[in-house]
Amino acid sequence: MSNITVEPDGQAELGPCADCGSSTRSVWGYAYDDGACIAAYFARWTVGHQPQQPFHFLLSVGRWGEGAEPSMRRRIGVECRMGEDRPGFMVIDADALNWGQGESLVPALTRAQALADPARDVAFSVLDRVVFDDPRVHAFLSGGRQLTTG
Ligand SMILES: [Zn+2]
Repeated sequence: MSNITVEPDGQAELGPCADCGSSTRSVWGYAYDDGACIAAYFARWTVGHQPQQPFHFLLSVGRWGEGAEPSMRRRIGVECRMGEDRPGFMVIDADALNWGQGESLVPALTRAQALADPARDVAFSVLDRVVFDDPRVHAFLSGGRQLTTG
């Protein structure tokens, strides 16, 4: 068992969805394991879309903080959609998420690379916490309902 905690940070409105005109929102934050930052996460969805429609997470997993460089991290792209009572996740090519949010120097893993990289396990552990502990993500996913735990 890890002791991953989540610290929500900023958010931004990215303009209207080309399909429905609703605002697309980006939120981000950081994940810590026993006090050490292990990942940043970015989520992007369109307000007014259903959480059963696919939306995306980008995680930057690895060394953060003093002395850490972008080359010490890996970018992992994840497609998410809400299932019956819990969200489902699928790794995608990180390069498919061309979000340009400061982590562009961090090597992007393809789906195949991510599935073979230990950073993938970290990413999924972080996402398991984010969907409960980032209230913005939780509110979108649950649509006001309670999510089931593990
Ligand atoms: Zn839309």
